[in-house]
Amino acid sequence: MKCLVLGSAAGGGFPQWNCACRLCALARAGDKRARPRSQASVALSADGENWLLVGASPDLRQQILANREMAPRAARHTPIAGVVLVSADVDGIAGLLVLREQSPFKIFAPDSTLRILQENRLFASLDPSLVVRVPIAAGVPVETGFGLTLTLLGMPGKIPLYHEDRGAAEAEAAVTYAARVEGGGRTVVVAPACAEVTDDVLEKLRGADVLFFDGTLFADDEMITAGLSGKTGRRMGHVSVSGPDGSLARLAAHPGRRIYVHINNSNPMLLEDSAERAMVNAAGFEVGYDGMSFEIK
Ligand SMILES: [Zn+2]
Repeated sequence: MKCLVLGSAAGGGFPQWNCACRLCALARAGDKRARPRSQASVALSADGENWLLVGASPDLRQQILANREMAPRAARHTPIAGVVLVSADVDGIAGLLVLREQSPFKIFAPDSTLRILQENRLFASLDPSLVVRVPIAAGVPVETGFGLTLTLLGMPGKIPLYHEDRGAAEAEAAVTYAARVEGGGRTVVVAPACAEVTDDVLEKLRGADVLFFDGTLFADDEMITAGLSGKTGRRMGHVSVSGPDGSLARLAAHPGRRIYVHINNSNPMLLEDSAERAMVNAAGFEVGYDGMSFEIK
């Protein structure tokens, strides 16, 4: 299976358009240690010709232009054969609007997310006779039709910010999703949002040869100490990288390749010569970057 990181940053990207925090300022100044990143999306393919996108980032147009694998092979063609929506947040679905020029592809998503697309008239621009909506349920494998088997995995999470007014109780119960993709005897899991690495989560991630995991925040209180927000990572639906319950500790025994994606611009591991980056690498984890590309055989 071929893996291509189209975007490795969390919502807002790196640098974020309205942020001049220390890291964003370095990225904006072109500092080599702070490589700019677009919003998270990972592309997977069994044959190199038909690709499944995990997440449709608002940066999708730029991501298609930046990666030759995403280029059309003929007049009116796209190698994007499918998109799986693991989040209904703006940074997970807005990219669909880029794909509205009469090319056929499939959207795989849970019912709740398909309803959001249905309710929002903007997404009617994706002609349903060409862009097939395929409802998928957590834990039930589906054949994509282009050599990959896709399973949605429920993850501890939160509801999209624009639905937060529906109340705390619903927020508590909300889940987000990861995508488990199998092809050519290999398994990749893409989990850009996970509020807590529970034993149940460890069980779901088991057997992943490559794991793209939530690298939003290095420390749970990072947004607060940087003066960027009043919310902890946990409150935002993202487990921190560091700490006793952080992903570095909880995924320490995972035997596959572990790559952080969905990295927020406040996360000091973005900086290539930082102590935090060194700590992550020393633990055997990798920090994803836009254009990161490899094949697992
Ligand atoms: Zn920033």
